[in-house]
Amino acid sequence: MPGSVGGPRILLRRLREVMAEPESAQKRLDKIVVLIASNMVAEVCSVYLMNGTKELELSATEGLKPTAVHATRLRVGEGLVGDIAAHARPRNLAGAQSHPGFAYRPETGEEIYKSLMGVPILRSGKVVGVLVVQNRTKRHYTEEEVEALQTVAMVLAEVVAAADLIGAVPDEPDLSRQMPYHIAGTSFSESIALGHAVLHEPRVHVTKLIAEDTELELKRLEQAVYALRGSIDDMLETMYDAPGIGLAAVQVGVPKQVIVMDLAREGEEPEPRYFINPEILSTSDDLAVYEEGCLSVPDFYEEVERPARCRVRYLDYQGEIREEECDEMLATCLQHEMDHLDGVLILDRTAPEQRREALKALPAGG
Ligand SMILES: [Zn+2]
Repeated sequence: MPGSVGGPRILLRRLREVMAEPESAQKRLDKIVVLIASNMVAEVCSVYLMNGTKELELSATEGLKPTAVHATRLRVGEGLVGDIAAHARPRNLAGAQSHPGFAYRPETGEEIYKSLMGVPILRSGKVVGVLVVQNRTKRHYTEEEVEALQTVAMVLAEVVAAADLIGAVPDEPDLSRQMPYHIAGTSFSESIALGHAVLHEPRVHVTKLIAEDTELELKRLEQAVYALRGSIDDMLETMYDAPGIGLAAVQVGVPKQVIVMDLAREGEEPEPRYFINPEILSTSDDLAVYEEGCLSVPDFYEEVERPARCRVRYLDYQGEIREEECDEMLATCLQHEMDHLDGVLILDRTAPEQRREALKALPAGG
C-alpha cells in the first residue's frame, strides 16, 4: 500500500508557498493538483468547481487528459463526484469503477484508475466543488489521508473564492447541509393534502451495551428522561391552549410515541394523562359510536365507530410500565390518538362524501 510522501505537513507548507506566489488562479490550481498528487502518491488529482450553470466542471487536473479540463461537467448527484457534492461528504472507494454510482467519462481517460477518494470543497457550509484523487491500483486510503484531503479542500475553498473561480454558488437546498428548506409544488389535480412532514431517521442500533463510564451514562439517561418530560409538558400545554382533550406527539412534529390527554369536564379539576410508547393489547368486539373532533382537522366533527373497549400498555410519566382497561371516552380518545401515531387521521375513518364536504370547508391553503 503506497504511503504519503512527506505527509500532510509538507503538503500544507507547499500549499502556503503556492498561495504566496503572484500567479493567476488557474495557474495556482494547476500547481496545487500536482502538489497533492505527488504528496499523496496518487496518479490523479482533480478539482471540480461549481460553474455558472451549477454543474461540477473539471477545473484542474494532474493525471487526467488536459483536454478534459473545462470540458468535462457533471451534474450534482451524477457519478461519484456528483454524489460527494450532493451529500457534502467524503467518499473513499478502493473499487470505484465497480461502484454503481460511477459515471464514466471517456474524454478524461480515467478508465484505468481503480481507486478514488474525494472530498467536498465547502465554503460557508455550501459545496462549491469537489477535490478528488485517484489511483491505478486498488488502494485503501487511510482515515488520515481523507482528513488531510479535507484540510487541503479548506485551503482550496479560499483560493477559488478569492479568485472568483466559482460560478454563482447556488442556494439550492440539496447543496445546503443543515438548513431546513421549503419546497414549492405545483398541483397536479385539484385536491387537498393534509399532513405533517416528519424526517424519518433510522432507528439507533445499540452496539455498546456496557458503559465505560457508568456515572456519565446515568447522567445522560437522567438528562434524556428530563428532556422527554419537558417535551411532554410542552405537548400538554399546547393541547390545553388549543383547546383539546388529546394530542399525539406527531401532531406537533415530535417523532415520538407519546400521547397526552385530559378528559376532565369543564369545571372539574384537570386530570392530565400521559401515555409513552403506548400499545393496544386487545380490543372488544362490541363497537361504540362517538362524535369525534381533531386538532389537526379544525372544525370538523364526525361520528366514528370504534371498539367500545381496549386494553393498553404504556409507560407513565415516571417511566413505570402500566396496563389499563379503557372504556367509554377514554377508549375512543386513546384509539383516536393511537391512529395519529400510525399516521391515520379521523378523515381516513370517514365516508368519502363526508370527507369531501369536510375538506371543502377547510380554510384555503390548509
Ligand atoms: Zn386528532
